Amino acid sequence: MTVFGKESHKNHDGVHFFNDEATGLRAIIAIHDTLLGPALGGTRLWTYQNEDEALTDVLRLSRGMTYKAACAGLSLGGGKTVILGPAPTDQEKRKQMFSAFGKAVESLSGSYITAEDVGTSVDDMVAVKKETSHVTGLPIEIGGSGDPSPFTAQGVFLGLQVAVKHQLKRKTLDDVKVLVQGIGHVGWSLIQKLRNAGASVVVTDINKEMVEKAVSELGCKACNADEWMLQDIDVYAPCALGGTLNSHTIPLLKCKVVAGAANNQLAKKEDALSLKRNGILYSPDYVINAGGLINVDLERNGSWNENLALEKVGKIAESLDEIFSRVEADDKLTTRQASAELARERLRAAAIRQDSNKNDW
Ligand code: NAD
Repeated sequence: MTVFGKESHKNHDGVHFFNDEATGLRAIIAIHDTLLGPALGGTRLWTYQNEDEALTDVLRLSRGMTYKAACAGLSLGGGKTVILGPAPTDQEKRKQMFSAFGKAVESLSGSYITAEDVGTSVDDMVAVKKETSHVTGLPIEIGGSGDPSPFTAQGVFLGLQVAVKHQLKRKTLDDVKVLVQGIGHVGWSLIQKLRNAGASVVVTDINKEMVEKAVSELGCKACNADEWMLQDIDVYAPCALGGTLNSHTIPLLKCKVVAGAANNQLAKKEDALSLKRNGILYSPDYVINAGGLINVDLERNGSWNENLALEKVGKIAESLDEIFSRVEADDKLTTRQASAELARERLRAAAIRQDSNKNDW
């Protein structure tokens, strides 16, 4: 397995491997950058093809968190965890594994703070809390802010509306056709908001039960998981895993807007240019999906309440508006470049304040 030579391993502050034979925990915590503050990023539990794939994932995700926090104006750095699945099916054993993970987080002395991500839940974070205070996304009853996903969905919903306004010149989502890929914690909440706003929604997921539920309870249409890129839609909302925008899918897309929650939606950075050339407005993932991070940051500061969280999440629409306007004013610029520049401006300012010579993110 290559570590240092990996394209995704560039300037990480630290990458930490944990192996706890007693509970079966195999985790990688990647801390990309802590200039703006401690690295905060969720824990993904996923069954990877191999360890190399898991490492690539955590390295890309942790870098994305640095950019996400910077664009959202938060005093947080970028980090992320992947736990290599499958997880124990026995609930008691699962709790023990997450407690062991809590010890791993604690060993980093607060330079990394965790939360939920794909495959992990509020209950898992409660088990982590037994061993460390460096955990967010805890239940409201014990002083937390609950599941961050509805706040992520709210940010995506607002951002999607801004993108539709810019690209389709439509003031409302009435009859706008949206494809939501991934009906999980974020996807379900987003679909509810879209349906309430009058959008017509096509859904796809590898979990057939969730597809049936979205069709019967929320009036969605369904498409096969491997045919999503052929759908006749206005907006594609990726809310499953990353890498779905690539050289194979982009030429097939019929949508005019991409606006979704998934991290690392572009397989390669060049895909941003392909989208632009194909007349598709891409809402940069780490800008539009920052709602959950904004929410857990308030929890961490001890100032969380729902109204304040919703108010702060509303700023995502303003950031996207600025990014889309910058791109409209400069024909050569992609939205990916515009958002990366926004993040780097803030990181450079922090580096100057702290007299750091770090200048390559
Ligand atoms: P989740 O695990 O609750 O849901 C993911 C869904 O995607 C599941 O229903 C799964 O079956 C489905 N899926 C997986 N592979 C698929 C495929 N190939 N085709 C179709 N569906 C597929 O996860 P979530 O918390 O809803 O997060 C969704 C995405 O948003 C992830 O990329 C996550 O990193 C990102 N994100 C989540 C949050 C948050 O607050 N939860 C915040 C920021 C970003």
